[in-house]
Amino acid sequence: MGSLNPESSKAFSLCGYLWRIIRDMPKQSWAKTLEFARASKKLGQDDPRRIVHSLKVGLALTLVSFVYYLQPLYHSLGNSNAIWAVITVVVIMEFSVGATLGKGLNRIMATLLGAYLGFAVQWIANTSGDKWQAAKYEYGLTIFILTLSLVSVSGYREDKMLKMACDRVLTIILGSFIAMTVCIFIFPVWIGEDLHYLVASNIDKLGHFLQEFGERYFSSETEDGKPGNIDRSLKEKYESVLTSKTREETMANLARWEPSHGQFRFLHPWKQYLKIGNLTRQCANKIEALDFYLTSETHQTGYEVRMKIKESCQYISSECGKALKELSSEVKRMSSVSTSKDHIERAKEGVEMLNSVIESNPWEGFDVMDIVPAAAVASLLTNLVSAIETISQAVQQLVSMAHFRTTCPENSLFTMATSPASSANRIDVFWHEGMLKHDPGNGVFDSGMDPGFLDVLEKHPENSDRIRNMVSILQRGPISPYISWHLGSPALIPHLLSFHTHEYINALVQADKEGGRMLCGGTFLNPGSWDAALLAAGTTMSAMKHILDGHGKVSYALVRPPGHHAQPTQADGYCFLNNAGLAVQLALDSGCSKVAVIDIDVHYGNGTAQGFYHSNKVLTISLHMNHGSWGPSHPQNGSVDELGEGEGYGYNLNIPLPNGTGDKGYACAFNELVVPSIQKFEPDVIVLVIGQDSSAFDPNGRQCLTMEGYREIGQRVHRLSTRHCNGRLLIVQEGGYHVTYSAYCLHATLEGVLNLPSPLLEDPIAYYPEDETFSSHVIEAIKNYQKDKVPFWKAA
Ligand SMILES: [Zn+2]
Repeated sequence: MGSLNPESSKAFSLCGYLWRIIRDMPKQSWAKTLEFARASKKLGQDDPRRIVHSLKVGLALTLVSFVYYLQPLYHSLGNSNAIWAVITVVVIMEFSVGATLGKGLNRIMATLLGAYLGFAVQWIANTSGDKWQAAKYEYGLTIFILTLSLVSVSGYREDKMLKMACDRVLTIILGSFIAMTVCIFIFPVWIGEDLHYLVASNIDKLGHFLQEFGERYFSSETEDGKPGNIDRSLKEKYESVLTSKTREETMANLARWEPSHGQFRFLHPWKQYLKIGNLTRQCANKIEALDFYLTSETHQTGYEVRMKIKESCQYISSECGKALKELSSEVKRMSSVSTSKDHIERAKEGVEMLNSVIESNPWEGFDVMDIVPAAAVASLLTNLVSAIETISQAVQQLVSMAHFRTTCPENSLFTMATSPASSANRIDVFWHEGMLKHDPGNGVFDSGMDPGFLDVLEKHPENSDRIRNMVSILQRGPISPYISWHLGSPALIPHLLSFHTHEYINALVQADKEGGRMLCGGTFLNPGSWDAALLAAGTTMSAMKHILDGHGKVSYALVRPPGHHAQPTQADGYCFLNNAGLAVQLALDSGCSKVAVIDIDVHYGNGTAQGFYHSNKVLTISLHMNHGSWGPSHPQNGSVDELGEGEGYGYNLNIPLPNGTGDKGYACAFNELVVPSIQKFEPDVIVLVIGQDSSAFDPNGRQCLTMEGYREIGQRVHRLSTRHCNGRLLIVQEGGYHVTYSAYCLHATLEGVLNLPSPLLEDPIAYYPEDETFSSHVIEAIKNYQKDKVPFWKAA
């Protein structure tokens, strides 16, 4: 067998190669198609707008192709120029409106400028003979635009060249116009909006990390006593924040071209987003350092060392996290309703707690190398608080610069609410739906007991339904335009100690840890109750703070579980924490010298009275059913002779009213007793403690007030607060157990507080006839007794 010569062997291998290509072509092209389909699917899943964009490009090209089919247009623009329209679409059509407009307008302007310069060059060349060759300028001017070079080096005569340039400019304008129109009017992608949400989501990611960090770093549940590693997905998130600078800058540049749309104006403050973005990255740098101490193998510290600063650091971390998440939501909503500030304030309190812990030298006796990482974490958390405060200021600037329509917090219960413009004619309602989680259970009325012989048990009277209706009537009732909604927040344990004793609070915390129990008759601390109680206390304090800070005149803390029976040392009558008492103490601590409390709940406000029984700074007045003491949790009688003690003597006025007192009886009690007492006391702020259990249909009361009676009480208190304390009035929700009528009575009370000229809502239930004779005798007797005993009455 002779071998093939090299030439023929080369040819053979080439043929084989070609054959293999041809043979494999269908297989490969199928694989390529599949790969393309997979990539398109992923792209569509990642951002479906990309698919829409490709369809839009197709549409714009189709539209521009009509130029070729429309004979008159084709001829008028010249045979060779129509292609420029197609090229323009291909070149300028971008994903977002901003990018397309930027490129389109630039292209039009550059073309015009190029044409203009081209003419100038041609004219100079023609008039200056050989000295001025247009070609000399070709290179420099093509930097601006191809048009210029074509025009300037062409051999056309001036008239022909003019026509060509005009045609070209027109086709480019036509192409740009089609591309921009499709981009703006068909599923527009606004890059400014993307930037808006990118900045907000970056802040949110950091908040997410910080909320987790405290729990993980101080966790004891890991082997070797080392802190638990944070979720990898969280780490990736803050890492993406660190690298977002270029992207944000590009987006802000393109967003400038976008016309006014939705909430965004043409001159929207895009630069402010860059400022917030930079501040967010500074924050992310600190978070990266925190993460280092969480995940590093070498820089770890023992469980015992970490525990010394656990409480305050966890608190700072959690409040910083909440503040950031709230800030993110404020950017998204562009809302000036800011609850982030409250979280920042709390984080600052956490820093103070941490400082006092560190000043007490908690790490005495520990190895220095062991202390350093924990101290670094404490220091980073402290720095984060001021970094977040700076972001908060920048966000507030953005909100005021952007002139967005202010909206209510992003909470299902807030969506129906509207904010009235005038602060003089508005009630700021503080509420948080977390308070609905307190469930005192079912039984025979409030006993929690199932006797075994009843088919149907009932919900505990202090159930969440009653409050749901109060929320909904304020959102959807005729009073809604006068209501401005604010998100409540939980109280801190240290805050509770301004009214309650350490032992009592510890007992409650312990009861909650053990899964809850009955604290006294009808008062059940169940799972979820403690969180709700903390929310009720914190929300009432926020409502008071709102007034003290001068943000509003009238605040209403719509809270549960109620509080006015809770005494410094014990729970009582469905109450755990004295919400009103804590708010009163906050006012005193903030510089108010005198606070008056008017309690119209059908039961004696024994807890509040007890808390200030020895104080002459707080005048507590309670109008109630004459129910007397009801057991060890409620030793007070609520009788006229409980006047206070020591300095507080004469500063607790009890007005026990006979059953069935009714609207006229209450009006009489106000005129004869409440109004003159407030006039003499002259408080800096009034706290109106309301309970709709004084209504004619309440299962817990017998005082027979109707909506009209509540409305009148509201008006009287409005006049008192206007006359004596510059309109500063805090209203705190207590009892009221008729599921629907309580909401109506609340509506009527607030109408009165707003001093509206005529009722907004009619009473849906008939009322009972009243007998005022007996109550007026009782009121006269109480008045005489007080005049005899109370020093400030005698002084008059
Ligand atoms: Zn009550």
